[in-house]
This record gives sequence, C-alpha cells and structure tokens, in this order.
Amino acid sequence: MTKAMYPGSFDPITVGHLDIIQRAAGMFDELIIAIMKNPKKRATFSEEERKWLIEQCVKELNNVRVIIGSGLTVSTAEQNGCRVLIRGIRAVADYEYELQQATANMMLNERIETVFLVSRPEYSFLSSSVAKEIASYNGDISGFIPKEIIEEVKKELIPPQSLSKPE
Ligand code: ADP
Repeated sequence: MTKAMYPGSFDPITVGHLDIIQRAAGMFDELIIAIMKNPKKRATFSEEERKWLIEQCVKELNNVRVIIGSGLTVSTAEQNGCRVLIRGIRAVADYEYELQQATANMMLNERIETVFLVSRPEYSFLSSSVAKEIASYNGDISGFIPKEIIEEVKKELIPPQSLSKPE
C-alpha cells in the first residue's frame, strides 16, 4: 500500500489545489493532506480553519484525510507512513523553489520521494494569494475557490465595508 502526503499552506485551498488532490488520490492508496507552516508566508486562516475548509471539499474522496503537520515535512511524512510527497508545478517560476525543497528533503530523508504533478493550464495562474487579493477588492473568486467553501472564504476575506456601502 503506497501512502502519499500533499504538504502545503492551503491558505485557503483553491480549485488548483483540489485538482492536484483529486488526481493524486487516484494514483495512491491513501493521500494525506498536511497543512504545514511556511515561514515565508503570514497565514490568513488558522490551521484549524484551513483543515476544516479542506475537509468540506474532500468529503467524496474516501482515501483522503487532512492533518496539521509540525516540524520538518519529511518527519511528518515518515510519522504518517508516507513514502511519497506530492507537489504541484504551475510554471517555471515554481520550478526553482520546488527543486530546492525536494532536494533538501531528499538529503534529509532519502527514503521519501517527491512526485510533481503539473498544473492544469486553466489553473496555472492560480494561487491562494491571487484569490485573497481579488477578494480584498470584492472581486469574484468563484473560479478560484471550491464551491463547497466559497461563502465561508468570502466572509473572511471580503472587507465588511465592501459588503454594505453607505449611500
Ligand atoms: P506552500 O506554501 O508549501 O508552497 P501552497 O499552498 O502555496 O503551499 O502550495 C502547495 C503546493 O501546491 C505547491 O507545490 C504549489 O506549487 C502547489 N499549487 C498551488 N497552487 C496550485 C495550482 N493552481 N495548480 C497546481 N499546483 C498548485
């Protein structure tokens, strides 16, 4: 049985993340989505909120579960019996960072392999930060955020003054 782990910030989960999750869930016996801290990013949603949001989107996928990881990604993977790490590549810009992370993880634990899934072209521009920026201007994020959680995400991201403008 091969278990894979998809680590990331998921702040919040986007349709691009969800597409990677659906594809990886079809490739492995079990997929664990691990919410990890990225020291380069300040989170908008708490880890518990992000876990709940992802869970609302993966209810139909019965070999997928969500955890909050801590410490090194490879340690979280090993503790959960995962030999494979899944990462997504959207464009060349992702490649250098992802290669660096995967190589560091390989040096830390050579039993764990990183598998890259290429983004679908329609999602290759999409990131949590793009969705958050659009929402902060009260823009339409329905093409960015899974429909199961769109209302919760809007409530958190759209500034209250944009929702009720005084005349
Ligand atoms: P991190 O802070 O660890 O980069 P993210 O949540 O930003 O976490 O991304 C997690 C993984 O998902 C990364 O490998 C990233 O490249 C990938 N990813 C993010 N958005 C997309 C997308 N639209 N399509 C495919 N992969 C994506």
